[in-house]
Amino acid sequence: MSVPIKKEKTADVLVIGGGLVGSAVAFGMAECGARVIVLDEGDRAFRAATGNAGLVWYQGKGRGMRRYQEWTLEAIRAWPGFAENLKELTGIDVFYHKPGGLTFCISEAEYESRRDLIDTIRREAAPDDYDCTMLDRKEVQELLPGMKLGDGVVGASYTRQDGHVNPLALLKALHAGLKKCGGFYYSGHTVVDIHRHPDRYAAQTGKDVFTAPKLVIAAGNGTGRLAQIVGMNIPVRPEKGEILVTERIRPCLPLPCNRIRQTTDGSFLIGASQEDAGFDIRTNTRVIKGMAERARTVFPVLGKLKIIRSWAALRVKTPDKMPVYEGSDSAPESFAIALHSGVTLASVHAIELPKWILNRHEPEGFHHFRSRRFDV
Ligand SMILES: Cc1cc2nc3c(=O)[nH]c(=O)nc-3n(C[C@H](O)[C@H](O)[C@H](O)COP(=O)(O)OP(=O)(O)OC[C@H]3O[C@@H](n4cnc5c(N)ncnc54)[C@H](O)[C@@H]3O)c2cc1C
Repeated sequence: MSVPIKKEKTADVLVIGGGLVGSAVAFGMAECGARVIVLDEGDRAFRAATGNAGLVWYQGKGRGMRRYQEWTLEAIRAWPGFAENLKELTGIDVFYHKPGGLTFCISEAEYESRRDLIDTIRREAAPDDYDCTMLDRKEVQELLPGMKLGDGVVGASYTRQDGHVNPLALLKALHAGLKKCGGFYYSGHTVVDIHRHPDRYAAQTGKDVFTAPKLVIAAGNGTGRLAQIVGMNIPVRPEKGEILVTERIRPCLPLPCNRIRQTTDGSFLIGASQEDAGFDIRTNTRVIKGMAERARTVFPVLGKLKIIRSWAALRVKTPDKMPVYEGSDSAPESFAIALHSGVTLASVHAIELPKWILNRHEPEGFHHFRSRRFDV
């Protein structure tokens, strides 16, 4: 006869959503000594955390919102210590490497448009603070001695700040770290309703009710609906991204590139696409063909490799594609987080957000991330 597992049902903080965002914040808060419960729909849910490209990426981000560009740089600066800490605590290596990164341009028009973007972000950044540059074809080839560029490559944008990580190991390490620090993760616990009592929130999942004085909603594309219950307007929509995986070969691509990276086990990840397809996560042969052709234009040798797998996953997109960090005005001690780039920002989510949620030390300039910017 199996003995039912006794669940902890009260905590200092309830986190709804155990993807990369919820897990990073939950881990960080548990490390600070808070008693944390994560309620997660689980592996069958729509989950960007298990379908992403694993880039820890700086270049090209933050046009129109300087604070996002700075926040990303803070995340990148925090990554080495964060990865080291996770390894020490859990024994899991997330394989963070920061060799720099490239975004290829395969026509003059793409090159010009990329240069415009990078120049605009540089103008908006603090003086001398934006570390990204355009390289011509020859300069790009010099960075990639083991991979011959295709004739169609015109150039690329480059920064030393970019890197990559194993995103599945990252999620596993965050869950393990949470447990190590005394937190609880419950999979298969879809929150269907939230009730507000004078001194606590109660989240209902099927037959169980979990309570805590603080509530963090980080449920990916489910955040909008749940946040509304506690009076927050968080507009999010899914954006489909498809990825191809090739067979493994010897390491030959020394830098991650925004649509092609070689993982530590030797496979190439190609993608990801950007499609407005609602909650449809079927792969599409037309899209896959387009991605494969582009990859072959950049590196003809990739055309010789077998594709062994493909998948689609849903990004969590806000209207301006920048993060939302919201604290409810009408329901104190409830917070909502919605963003793309949950891999890149995992370090600051674990290190900085606990100060905001637990101690009300809001990171500088955080008001830029509030969702009222959409109320126009
Ligand atoms: C194709 C693709 C490529 C990407 N590449 C990169 C990249 O290279 N670098 C980068 O930084 N980012 C990348 N991302 C984005 C990154 O994966 C996401 O930002 C991150 O995973 C989002 O995490 P999340 O926790 O917000 O959402 P999700 O991973 O979607 O997790 C949401 C969680 O909430 C849970 N949930 C939902 N509703 C409920 C409910 N009612 N009750 C309980 N639990 C609930 C689900 O079970 C799920 O676990 C990529 C995304 C995609 C799709």
